[in-house]
Amino acid sequence: MNVSQLARSIAESPTLKLNEEARLLKEKGEAVIHLGAGEPKNKAPINAILSSSAKLTTGDVKYTPTDGIPSLKKAIIRYTEENYDRLVAPENIIVSAGAKQSVFNLLYSILNPQEEVIILAPYWVSYPEMVRMCYGVPVIVTPEDGTFHPRMEDIKKVVSSYTRAIIVNSPNNPSGVVYKESFIQEIVDFCETKGIYLIMDDIYHKLIFDGRKTPNAYAYTNKNIEDTRVILVNGISKLYGMTGFRIGWSVANRKLTQIMINVQGQMTTTTSVILQAAAEGALMGLQSIVEQLRLQMENNRNVMVQELTSFNGVHITPPDGTFYCLPDFRAYTKNSVELSNTLLKKALVVTVPGKEFGMEGHLRLSFCGSIKDIKQGIERIKWVLDPCSPNEIYIGERKLVRDWL
Ligand code: PMP
Repeated sequence: MNVSQLARSIAESPTLKLNEEARLLKEKGEAVIHLGAGEPKNKAPINAILSSSAKLTTGDVKYTPTDGIPSLKKAIIRYTEENYDRLVAPENIIVSAGAKQSVFNLLYSILNPQEEVIILAPYWVSYPEMVRMCYGVPVIVTPEDGTFHPRMEDIKKVVSSYTRAIIVNSPNNPSGVVYKESFIQEIVDFCETKGIYLIMDDIYHKLIFDGRKTPNAYAYTNKNIEDTRVILVNGISKLYGMTGFRIGWSVANRKLTQIMINVQGQMTTTTSVILQAAAEGALMGLQSIVEQLRLQMENNRNVMVQELTSFNGVHITPPDGTFYCLPDFRAYTKNSVELSNTLLKKALVVTVPGKEFGMEGHLRLSFCGSIKDIKQGIERIKWVLDPCSPNEIYIGERKLVRDWL
């Protein structure tokens, strides 16, 4: 087949693939438990629904400016001021089809071939592939102390004249860890001094537990928005559980934003006006949904941690935010892909192999489903792995007996 070498080398998104596998199994009536999902089960906020349906019923559904409708950008400016204490201009913002497109557009706009982007493991699966899609080179930094917290000394070791950007995602997908304030301060300082872009993927910044706050990178620079190297990526997918609405945005200097507008203008023109109206409705509407979602996820996190703490041999770093955790299963196996496949085959539990996130021997487990799913899911994983767990289990209507331990 005649396809480009680069395109051929791009891996399928493992999380999207697993979503599809889970969907097909469910369709067949199998009692699947999906601990791989990256979206809560909530309904979209009413203000989002009303705002988008009002736009739809006008019948006036046309192209919008490439960078987004002015009223949505106004709402984003307000959001940025309220949450980051930064007053930015409409020219600093571009609305895209999800934070995913924002990250891609940013990378495409800043990278020359062979230039490097530092990615901190464990990392979101899409970063390395997106860097490669822009002919860049992903440089992975893994904490040597076995934690999920990156260290500046490890980052400094790999910085070279080719380094164009560092991506920071905290609260972190997949570990749920929130990076320390001192680390954010140091990395902002470092990037400002070296002239390296610091892409803050803040998509989970409000999904945070135990009364903590996500450090605000802008607080550690006194450079104005045109001069700072800090770039912010955010969106409505995780904030309001509006994953299907596909709206994200970036906040960056005007020059870079204008380049991104040119790129996006040639690629997708703009995002749908109906979905932009939904995002505006969510941002301008009642914000209590954010707290409701956060509380529900905190409760789910507590249950997940409790279930995993009682799991022989599994080490869990309790997540500070997001709806994921990344327990260490190396006491059972170092091969997370094999483990994940075994769990799906034997116990119909969907998990994501840690290998995909740069952390072999771990599994990413999502706790954004129901408490019942979390409890039953972990019970099934125990049944597959732990010889001390009962060797009979009900999966759906079927009673299964373990004969492999
Ligand atoms: N960044 C991270 C860290 C994510 O986990 C995700 C979604 N899984 C995104 C960006 C993309 O979000 P969106 O739905 O807005 O494209």
